[in-house]
Amino acid sequence: MTKDELWQAVLAQIQFNISPANFGTWFKNTGILLKKEKGVIVSVPNNFSKEWLENKYNKTILNILRGLDGEIKDIKYKVVHSGLKTKPAENNLDEINQLEFPEFKINKETNLNPRYIFENFIVGSFNELSHAAATAVSKSPGIIYNPLFIYGGVGLGKTHLLQAIGNEIIKNSPRKKVKYLSSEKFTSEVVTAIKNHSMESLKSLYREIDVLIIDDIQFLAGKEKTQEEFFHTFNALYNKDKQIVLSSDRPPASIPSMEERLRSRFEGGMITDISLPEFETRLAILKIKTQEKKIKISEEILEYISSHIKRNIRELEGALNRLIVYQKLNNQSPDIETAKTLLKNIILHSVKVANSKKIIQSVSDFYDLKEKELFSISRRKEIIRPRQIAMYLFREELKSSFPFIGRKFNGKDHTTVIHACNKISKEIKNDEKVEEEINLIKQRIYSI
Ligand code: ADP
Ligand code: MG
Repeated sequence: MTKDELWQAVLAQIQFNISPANFGTWFKNTGILLKKEKGVIVSVPNNFSKEWLENKYNKTILNILRGLDGEIKDIKYKVVHSGLKTKPAENNLDEINQLEFPEFKINKETNLNPRYIFENFIVGSFNELSHAAATAVSKSPGIIYNPLFIYGGVGLGKTHLLQAIGNEIIKNSPRKKVKYLSSEKFTSEVVTAIKNHSMESLKSLYREIDVLIIDDIQFLAGKEKTQEEFFHTFNALYNKDKQIVLSSDRPPASIPSMEERLRSRFEGGMITDISLPEFETRLAILKIKTQEKKIKISEEILEYISSHIKRNIRELEGALNRLIVYQKLNNQSPDIETAKTLLKNIILHSVKVANSKKIIQSVSDFYDLKEKELFSISRRKEIIRPRQIAMYLFREELKSSFPFIGRKFNGKDHTTVIHACNKISKEIKNDEKVEEEINLIKQRIYSI
């Protein structure tokens, strides 16, 4: 058994014993990094998963592993950040995408994926301005809109558009130096350069670029040193009329802890947004994707998908891929009923609304408490904090009033609720770990 098969077997058993939401949270993007004679190193995507697996699931995992391979006596957990992703957990659509449809080769110099081009980008009123600005920039880089700043929610085409600009420029002027990267990659380059005392060479490398494209710039928030480097690079390029293109999940003014001077640079160019696609556009996107993937899916099914998945183009594609996998395995197209069954989870997942039941369930699941413990009058520390987090989530996600939340939690005074909400907001601001913790809970709320 290879290490990947071994881990798949472990996941398959664990999946029976815990809820799908828990499974998704703790075991997504895990894998076996290394197998030695007597032990294994399990890779996990973040510190939080690491602690959780070590403290809560270690025994279960070890037992299962021993059952599969009697030699294994010990497990270590190691955080491996994405990019070095390990074997897929089943049901993970992004992973299925990659399994079934291997990405085109990403260009090592530009980091561009040739799959993202204008020709396969559908334009509707939701992204029209961003598209127009992007094509204009690709025709006359550095001259017209500089910087170009595109913002919008997850899975709505920012990366596609940014890369299309890069690909188009390279196509028309192969000698131009284009570089695409995420702001996380930029950060890690800066950090490495500082560590290796090679900042000067990194600087000169960046200053030779003609078109610099940085994706998800919101991740520079709070990273002062990186922001400073970026500011200097930005100015150097800008003053030489080199093109800069940026994306973010929100407008510049709403990126927290972004230096003022950077914010005003971003605001000095063209800012466009991408909102949500309407039904006809969603259908058109699905159609172009079926053509690209060379498969036939009935109009009825495509309409069913487009009318149910509204907020995320990546999920639209995910739904299609689920049907393609079915088609490949069964050698026939699914009919509408089969499609509905196959897509049930994806569609449920895409209806993203929170309610009080989901909040209570997710918080108590997350901290392994009984739901009624959250409402009890207990002053135990293990209960007080989750209770405060639940109150915070009522406030943030449901916009409930403080007195309402107080009544819900066993008649607590509204000042107690205000205190809890302030305390948790502050912790989130000051501590990345708490932020991650709350995000994981939110993910659950929106996936049940
Ligand atoms: P974001 O960066 O905003 O999270 P992506 O650019 O990664 O989103 O888009 C998610 C998926 O949806 C990609 O596979 C992309 O090709 C596809 N997509 C997004 N917008 C469009 C569009 N307008 N036309 C065709 N495909 C699109
Ligand atoms: Mg993106």
